[in-house]
Formats: sequence, C-alpha cells, structure tokens
Amino acid sequence: MNSSSGGFFTTIASSVIEQGGVVFGARFNDCWQVEVDYTDTAEGLSAFRGSKYVQADTGSSFKDAQRFLKEGRKVLYSGTPCQIAGLKQYLKKDYDNLILVDLICHGVPSPKVWDKYVRTKVKGKTGSTINFRDKSTGWESYSIRIAEYAAKYYDDPYMKLFLSDVILADSCYSCPFRSGRSGSDYTIGDLWGASDWVFKNTREYGIGAVLVYNERLKLEPDWHKEINKISYNEVISSNPSLIVSSKKNCFARNMSVMLSTRIGVSCAAYALRCLRFARRRIKKFVYWRSR
Ligand SMILES: Cc1cc2nc3c(=O)[nH]c(=O)nc-3n(C[C@H](O)[C@H](O)[C@H](O)COP(=O)(O)OP(=O)(O)OC[C@H]3O[C@@H](n4cnc5c(N)ncnc54)[C@H](O)[C@@H]3O)c2cc1C
Ligand code: SF4
Repeated sequence: MNSSSGGFFTTIASSVIEQGGVVFGARFNDCWQVEVDYTDTAEGLSAFRGSKYVQADTGSSFKDAQRFLKEGRKVLYSGTPCQIAGLKQYLKKDYDNLILVDLICHGVPSPKVWDKYVRTKVKGKTGSTINFRDKSTGWESYSIRIAEYAAKYYDDPYMKLFLSDVILADSCYSCPFRSGRSGSDYTIGDLWGASDWVFKNTREYGIGAVLVYNERLKLEPDWHKEINKISYNEVISSNPSLIVSSKKNCFARNMSVMLSTRIGVSCAAYALRCLRFARRRIKKFVYWRSR
C-alpha cells in the first residue's frame, strides 16, 4: 500500500536483501529534501518506497555503490534514468553483481521549489510524514499528504505545477535517457489506463508496468502470478513519458522567474490558472476578429 504503483521495486529489492545485497533508493532527509541512500535491511526499504516528485541528490552514492561492488556484494541501484546513466558512466565497467532499475520519468522539479512549498506545510515540525502518492483516496485519484495537510493531486498547487510541466529541470525537456537508453536492466512505472482490461480488483492498490531488458535476477516463481504480459505499445499508449520528454511550454519561463522571487508556490499555481484563462480568452478574441 505504501508503494506508488504495483510494488515491483519492493519485490526485486527484497530479493537482493535476502541474498545479502545492498539496495540504493531515494529517501527524504531531515530537511525534507530527497537524497539517494542505501540499506541492507528489509525495514530500510520503507524509506525508499513511494515516488518523491523532486530531484534527488545522489551525494556519495556512486562511490558507495562502487565500493560494495568491488567487495563482491550484490547491489541494486534504483533511480531516474539519468541517474542510472550517470552511475554507469562513473563505474566505467560492467559488474555482474549490479542490478539497475530506473523509472518511467515525467521529469523532476527543482529542490528549491519543493523546499519553498514543503516549508509552508511542515512549519518546522520534524518527523512529519510526506506521501506524494497516498492511495487512501484511490490509486488513480491519489492524494498528496504533508504532515496534517492532504489534497487530491489535481487540487494541490505543487502537483498542479509539476504535472503542467512548468517547474521541471531544464534537462527534462529534452531527456536523452528515456526508452531504455539509460542502460538499466528494468524500468518500472504506472500502468495508467490498464485497470479495466488487465486486472480486475486492484484499482485501489495500483498497477505497475515493468519493462525487462535484462533478467539479471531470478525472482521467486510466485511473483509471476500477478504479472500479465502486454506489449510495449500498450504501455506507451497510456504513458507517453516512457518515450517522449515533457514539452517546455510558454508558461515555464514565467513560473521559474516568479518562483525565484518571494512569490510562493500557491500564488504561482494561481497565476498559472489566470495566465491560461487569459490566453484562452485572447485566442477566442483573435479567432472572432478574424472571421
Ligand atoms: C520524479 C518521478 C517521475 C515519475 N514519472 C512517471 C511517469 O511519468 N509515468 C509513470 O508511469 N511513472 C512515473 N514515475 C514512477 C512511478 O511513480 C513509480 O515510482 C514507479 O511506478 C515504481 O512504483 P513501485 O510501486 O514499484 O515503487 P515504490 O515502492 O513506490 O518505490 C519507489 C521507487 O522510486 C524511487 N524514487 C522515488 N523518488 C525518486 C526520486 N525523486 N528520484 C529517484 N528515484 C526515486 C525509489 O528509490 C524506489 O526505487 C515517476 C517517479 C518519479 C520519482
Ligand atoms: S526526465 Fe530525464 S533528465 Fe529529467 S529526471 Fe527524468 S531521466 Fe533525468
């Protein structure tokens, strides 16, 4: 239930831990920023579960992963496609004991924008819980929860700006690492749009898509019980992020200028709504005048 979609990350990560391996994933630090850390216990995996829609700091994780690999331990590194490509470049050679898992990636907002927003919600309280994909209102109509605050994703200002593609990092608008080009062994994501035709009773828990490029790990035969094989095109049809970058629209520049000032995320989301409304009106007016 704490996984964002089908929970494949936990399936594969638990198998690595059982074999004495080390798992790298993204977690919140004490200041509510996201960073890549590692664990070799099953309990340690819980901090990695759940998508964090913020750019994660890889810190010393590439160096740590290399150390474990050289010691001969199995290592699973999970992250965005660009992080996986970055790790491969850092390591400069292939390791048989390395398993790479990346995500279908929409893009990441800047940590500065997230910091601005989260501070207005946690108000200095440490130990607050944050969940970008709370499923208590359903998997498809998920909510964001920050401490006592909760809102459906489409009502929350930060999620609105994220999903409108106006606060993504510049590199995300022309990302060269999609479509399995990061060099990962598995890509995991949501199987949006599949609920009616693939599975019957899983709507509240979520359905994940797993693309297997290299079956590096022999998993328990049981995990196949919940797997249906579908074509690559079926995954793409409801999830274009797998192959195409988000478009940098004309509002993105305005938002980054706005958010670099004292203007908060909620005001920026409101301004986006007004700008869109004004644009629609202008378009209508121009169309009417040209008739
Ligand atoms: C920024 C971002 C954008 C995404 N965009 C899409 C999309 O457009 N379409 C789609 O289908 N799926 C997208 N996903 C993936 C999806 O949200 C789920 O993470 C994925 O389906 C895995 O689900 P799970 O239940 O197996 O994993 P969970 O058990 O939820 O585990 C989460 C996994 O994601 C990793 N992770 C979480 N946050 C980050 C982060 N900020 N940086 C790097 N790694 C992170 C964790 O280390 C862990 O491996 C995105 C994820 C992120 C983090
Ligand atoms: S969209 Fe590309 S560049 Fe942006 S975070 Fe995802 S993998 Fe990295």
